[in-house]
Amino acid sequence: MSYQYDLFVIGAGSGGVRASRIAAGKGYKVAVAEASALGGTCVNIGCVPKKLFVYGSEFSHAFKDAQGYGWENVSGEFNWPTLRDNKTAEIQRLNGIYQSMLDRAGVDIINGYARFVDEHTVEVNGTQYTAEKILIAVGGKPFIPEFKGSDLVVSSNEMFFLEALPKKALVVGGGYIAVEFAGILNGLGVDTTLSYRGEQVLRGFDQDIRDFAQEEYKKAGVDVQLNTDVESIQLVDSSNPEGERLVRFKDGREEIFGLILYATGRIPYTDSLALDKAGIETEKGAIKVDSNFTTNVPSVFAIGDVINRLQLTPVAIGEAMALISYWFEGKAVTFDYDNVPTAVFSQPQIGTVGLGEEEAEKRGYDFRVYQTDFRAMKHTLSGSTERTLMKMVVDNKTDKVLGAHMVGDYAGEIIQGLGVALKAGATKADFDSTVGVHPTSAEEFVTFS
Ligand code: NDP
Repeated sequence: MSYQYDLFVIGAGSGGVRASRIAAGKGYKVAVAEASALGGTCVNIGCVPKKLFVYGSEFSHAFKDAQGYGWENVSGEFNWPTLRDNKTAEIQRLNGIYQSMLDRAGVDIINGYARFVDEHTVEVNGTQYTAEKILIAVGGKPFIPEFKGSDLVVSSNEMFFLEALPKKALVVGGGYIAVEFAGILNGLGVDTTLSYRGEQVLRGFDQDIRDFAQEEYKKAGVDVQLNTDVESIQLVDSSNPEGERLVRFKDGREEIFGLILYATGRIPYTDSLALDKAGIETEKGAIKVDSNFTTNVPSVFAIGDVINRLQLTPVAIGEAMALISYWFEGKAVTFDYDNVPTAVFSQPQIGTVGLGEEEAEKRGYDFRVYQTDFRAMKHTLSGSTERTLMKMVVDNKTDKVLGAHMVGDYAGEIIQGLGVALKAGATKADFDSTVGVHPTSAEEFVTFS
């Protein structure tokens, strides 16, 4: 049987682009279908523009900090359209880079939604394409629970294109996106409330990190409200759908906000794929794959957020590379989901790799903990009360560092290096024998006693 393509990729996000480009470079004839802009969530409405917004919002803190260093009258009027439009122009530049990367690799780019016709055929805009292998890399989409007035909220998708910033915003959720956008809005001068249904934001992170980060968010100016949930939302003036919203909380309180962001998780985006036409199985909405990213249909593969393992761009890229090795070298590569370093770009940042205390306990380790919190040198003059937390979990039996965690400036940058150390199996003794970089916050990780 001959096919038009060796590989047809559905979705030109981080995982799909990597798989397309590398497979084409190794001699496959490849097509990729994308209904929206090249680069997927991360480039267009995720990691990249979010980080630009974080940079933009951090200036307000820097202006305050600068005064203790002798800078007088440092302040400014913030202009939202400038940040939004400069961000959009930068993203368009990146879209162009993705386009030329795929063109250079000889990948055919097909604009539109792809739906399965059978296990070797997809249809895009009425045209059918056949391929020996089909890779699903469509990612995820925001999940918003249904309740009275849920149509009056926005998801992170819309946050990147707002016409104007509100005076007052409510962010609902306690995960990555909620705390990151709470920090962005707060930094940009919006009166920001973060409402989380549980006891503590950032479920799954080390407990001390959660406690500490939450307090720092409050200190930075976010009104963090725990054990709260929204019951209903309505327009203050029903003739003005763009106007203010009245939120009724489950405890009976009512409050008015100009914008309500729901950051209540992301779910696999399988809606328009017609998976049933090829008999592809899902589990809790995610495409079911084995350790080689193969679905129950041998010609169909899936990677990234649509398989809902770890919703992180570098993980999708790592999965794409593991799949490439499987296809081209016949190696059954098991992608290692342990010790994946990650950062939350809240203000302050969080960096984490490996096990937190609770997870180490759950896995039955006999371990010890090193922990410190301090005022970073920068804030001795800035006058800010911001503090930094660092924590390490060490296995008593092997002396291996099981986890490293940090809340504070540059946590994301610092944790990347520690990720290498943990991956290499570094022991506490290895950390101790490493010379510190002085004066930094990071050196605390090698001076724990
Ligand atoms: P998360 O899964 O991280 O958090 C979802 C939050 O919404 C949780 O606090 C959850 O509460 C809450 N929630 C879920 N359902 C409801 C509901 N019905 N009502 C009220 N609250 C609810 O999702 P995010 O949307 O923040 O992010 C999705 C994923 O994207 C992340 O897990 C992460 O993998 C990735 N991401 C990574 C980033 C990074 O690397 N810096 C940045 C942004 C996203 P509870 O805890 O009680 O379930």
